Amino acid sequence: MRVVKSFLPIIVLITGSYYGYQKYELLPESATIGITYLTHMLAIIVTGLSIHFSRSSIFFYVLLVVIANVILRFGWADNDLAYGLLSVSLPLLLLILTVLPDRGIISARAIPAYTTLLLVSLFSIILVTTSPTWATQIVLTDWLPAKYFDWTGQAQTVLIISFAALYIMLTLGVLNPSLHTAAGFGVLFMLIAQFHYGDASRSLNVFSGSALLMCLYAILQETWRMAYLDELTGLPGRRALREKFQKIGGSYTVAMLDVDHFKKFNDTWGHNAGDTVLRMIAAKMSKVSGGGSSYRYGGEEFSIVFKGKKSREAVRHLEALREEIANRPFVIRRAGRRDSDNRGKPSTNKSVTITVSIGFADSDGIESTPWEVLKRADKALYRAKGKGRNCVSE
Ligand code: GH3
Ligand code: MG
Ligand code: MG
Repeated sequence: MRVVKSFLPIIVLITGSYYGYQKYELLPESATIGITYLTHMLAIIVTGLSIHFSRSSIFFYVLLVVIANVILRFGWADNDLAYGLLSVSLPLLLLILTVLPDRGIISARAIPAYTTLLLVSLFSIILVTTSPTWATQIVLTDWLPAKYFDWTGQAQTVLIISFAALYIMLTLGVLNPSLHTAAGFGVLFMLIAQFHYGDASRSLNVFSGSALLMCLYAILQETWRMAYLDELTGLPGRRALREKFQKIGGSYTVAMLDVDHFKKFNDTWGHNAGDTVLRMIAAKMSKVSGGGSSYRYGGEEFSIVFKGKKSREAVRHLEALREEIANRPFVIRRAGRRDSDNRGKPSTNKSVTITVSIGFADSDGIESTPWEVLKRADKALYRAKGKGRNCVSE
């Protein structure tokens, strides 16, 4: 599901750019000048945003798109070897930059990325200026029957490496579905398409423009996630709850959920195990029945909002959730020596029971704001704690 979610916008943009490329000829000249201008503006904006939000992979993707544009617009890759090298090195660089760990943009951590870029550029320039026979042979030899490649002007080596890079990028995207890997796949696809079609301004405008749009989308979406989703659990956070409360009206139920004796759990099993418990609870909460939306309120407290449900309708869904958490044994893994957080903690595989207490209240036709309903739910939560925990209370 996450794979589809992160790749869908990219696939739409890829399809759109292909369509745009076919129809580009029909545009009046003034429109194409406008598109060229917009592409340049987009490059500047996305670069600025990627630096501002420290999105290093996006920064480097944009850099590669810009490099391709500069070289093609100025006609610097004007012979077969230079064009082939450019078409091979940019996709490979994109792949390397994607897998390089934690890069940064203007920091010492970015040195490996810049060094790789510099070395590949220098190596390519040397090869183009000296044109050694072996390089020409590797890049321009036909390894397979030429009839299979009559649909493209690209060298076979270029195509084979391009498809291999696409395949690896897709695998990375499936194994680790994220907007960045999806954007990386999209930008790679656009670079390959650009080199395949080759006709500078038309393909540059369409494919570079689309690649930059993918980068912009990834940054905006990531920024939205940072603002609205809790990093640890992936549930929407307090800001999202506040917005929900601004829109909500009519009859609804708010529940507050709190993990029982969680301080003791942390003290006994370590903070990392505590974090895993919070993630497990969040995963259960995200699937709560009855159409409830779950939020991480803060710390080990969560909220659930049932829109259009009175408390007597919501209670069974809360009861089911409480039961499901209490019945799921939580296995504490053997604490590793390297894990400083677990030093001195018992090192066995042990199964423990986690329980939660839940308080809830509904809007009940009273002229109260959602925050007041939440306050009543919080009071009910204290009653649930008073009743001995692991229960639901109104
Ligand atoms: P009670 O049953 O009355 O709720 O007892 P409690 O120990 O759960 O309650 P208390 O509010 O005293 O403790 C909350 C603990 O939750 C304290 C804090 O260490 C832990 N906690 C809060 N946020 C996090 C978090 O993000 N990760 C972890 N591991 N622990 C957290
Ligand atoms: Mg608490
Ligand atoms: Mg607690």
